[in-house]
Amino acid sequence: MLSCNQKLADLSIVSKVLAGKLKRLGLETIKDLIFYYPYRYENYSKIENIVDLYPGREAVVVGRLELIANKRSFKNRKVFTEAILTDDSGSVKIFWFNQPWIVKNLKAGDEIMVWGRVSGNDFGCYYASPHYSKNKFSAPGLLAIYPLTYGLNNNQLMDLVAKIFPALEFKDSLTSALLKKISLLDLPSAIKLIHQPKNENDIVLAKKRLAFNELLAVQLWSKKIKQESKKQTAPVIDFHLEATKKLIDSLPFTLTIDQKKSAWEIIKDIGLNQPMNRLLEGDVGSGKTIVAFLAVYNCLLNGYQSALMAPTEVLANQHYQTARQMLGENFQIALFTRTTAIINDEKVSKKILLAKIASGEVDFVIGTHALIQDSVKFEDLALVIVDEQHRFGVRQRQALKNNNNNSCQPHFLSLTATPIPRSLALVFYGELSISIIKQKPLGRLPVITKVISEQERFGSYDFIRQQINAGHQLFVICPLVDPSDILGVKSVTEEFKKLNKEVFPEFKIGLLHGRLKSAEKAELMSDFKNNKIQILVSTSVIEVGIDVPNATVMIIEGAERFGLSQLHQFRGRIGRSEIQSYCFLFANESSNSVSQRLSFLSNCYDGFKLAEYDLKNRGFGEIFGINQSGFDSFFKLADPTDLALASLAQKTADEYLDQATDNDLDDFFSFFSALALVDHLE
Ligand code: ADP
Ligand code: MG
Repeated sequence: MLSCNQKLADLSIVSKVLAGKLKRLGLETIKDLIFYYPYRYENYSKIENIVDLYPGREAVVVGRLELIANKRSFKNRKVFTEAILTDDSGSVKIFWFNQPWIVKNLKAGDEIMVWGRVSGNDFGCYYASPHYSKNKFSAPGLLAIYPLTYGLNNNQLMDLVAKIFPALEFKDSLTSALLKKISLLDLPSAIKLIHQPKNENDIVLAKKRLAFNELLAVQLWSKKIKQESKKQTAPVIDFHLEATKKLIDSLPFTLTIDQKKSAWEIIKDIGLNQPMNRLLEGDVGSGKTIVAFLAVYNCLLNGYQSALMAPTEVLANQHYQTARQMLGENFQIALFTRTTAIINDEKVSKKILLAKIASGEVDFVIGTHALIQDSVKFEDLALVIVDEQHRFGVRQRQALKNNNNNSCQPHFLSLTATPIPRSLALVFYGELSISIIKQKPLGRLPVITKVISEQERFGSYDFIRQQINAGHQLFVICPLVDPSDILGVKSVTEEFKKLNKEVFPEFKIGLLHGRLKSAEKAELMSDFKNNKIQILVSTSVIEVGIDVPNATVMIIEGAERFGLSQLHQFRGRIGRSEIQSYCFLFANESSNSVSQRLSFLSNCYDGFKLAEYDLKNRGFGEIFGINQSGFDSFFKLADPTDLALASLAQKTADEYLDQATDNDLDDFFSFFSALALVDHLE
């Protein structure tokens, strides 16, 4: 008998070469393999007449070989096998490439079954490298087609799955009583059917159960976190009403109602002796930082430390500046990244900074991933804030908690601009408490957003020139055109050259892409912030939350390539002051659906509505930017908008938790590889 955790390489039916190829697909254990789902199926459930074949059709036929021989191609002299297959209705040509041994196996006069996708050219239909069988003439049914690379072929994977299944033993973690109640397949059946369905209905049922498992995993995970936090104690942060009021009064603006509400929710939470687990969700520019800092301020007033992690050095630096301005001279505020160690604007060595964090002398540390190294120890950490949370996982968060001298668990707050509609929050975040800032600060004018045709391009450049001459600044965002251009160097360099030479030679232009060193990036950003550079040309994938209120114009090239939510996030970098801002969308493609989508953006300023539009029209992956969510790698089958299934998962999770032991739960997570989830939840 085989078990799920057995290594594929250890199986006698897996050669060393095959094991190597499987590994390159990330398939090391049997479990990896059975959760490697087909991405489509070919339908060979009925034997067809040859006369009914047409190009593009997937079909199985049975006939007699009239002729079979190896030949050499005129073009490249490569050997291929040519055959003619005939049944009562007609004949079809077959070519097999790179399999010259086939002529040893098949002879003219043999009766064989052939199946595959039919090709065609001017001379008619033919099969190219189809499957065949000499002795079994029942239709093969549905054929699973796997995503493949690296010289592994579909047959090899299918064979392997077929050989492993009969010997494989594993259990469902849900009891049969529970399964009956929710009328879903048990897991072993679902797994078997997704690889070897007999009919379309099998696929539907299998997918439903497996999708359900993904949703259930989210629910169980978050409920487990909640249960665990209930058992833990956290520092009680007393609310310093007067001091907080004073701080708020000292700000150059008044807080919005949503900001006040969110701040109050957070302050109430951290006043309890159980760790807070809260998400603060709000559009770009909605002012999440200040809300988070009010909580930090209260922690500091209570004599505890706080930490904030940002996804990039530029953002960490920006938060540090804000903290210094806002929280003033009475606290020790540090910036800690891979390249910098600063306490209250004074450069220090890393060693000194670490020592001062460990002794509790530093009150508030702001940094990047550098913060979660083992060497960073805290004296009594009360609050951890993570900005743009999708980039941090639970493990990193755990690392921060573990490095706390204090036996309490710190409170946890994550900030995100990803607008997940409330209806979907359950699916994505489970039991996490959520505060939402919906309003924009008062006095902000909506960014005037226009779709610009090629004819209008130069006219818009003139308008932009006037804006810059009036003292404002311009962002130019370029999409990644070439998938191999991960760092975006190619994408932006051309645009940069063009703007520099032909369009705006009179202005200083900066170029921001992933190849720059962090010090270079920081310098560029600070130059932009101080208006030493008037135009910043940037790739789409970096620096999400930059705050440069004087930048009031934005150009987005290739706008059709982005989801509306992402465009909205870009647009959020402007419109950060009382001055009217403008966003120009250039699209390389001008189909109806593109212009419809983009004009929706021109008229809508609500990130949540835009997210819903994306959801409806392009699927949930679009809510997030490229590579940002991680959810798409976790939800392989689940459709997060299937709220009925999600709520079934939620109810089931409650029942399951009532019966399950910790071991059962561990089993569930270890079996149903929740690792991707663990990295991306909360
Ligand atoms: P985000 O939610 O995107 O992180 P920030 O916290 O960076 O937004 O805030 C964006 C800008 O808005 C900052 O310059 C901040 O000082 C300013 N701001 C925050 N709250 C208000 C408010 N209530 N009124 C006016 N400006 C505000
Ligand atoms: Mg922010």
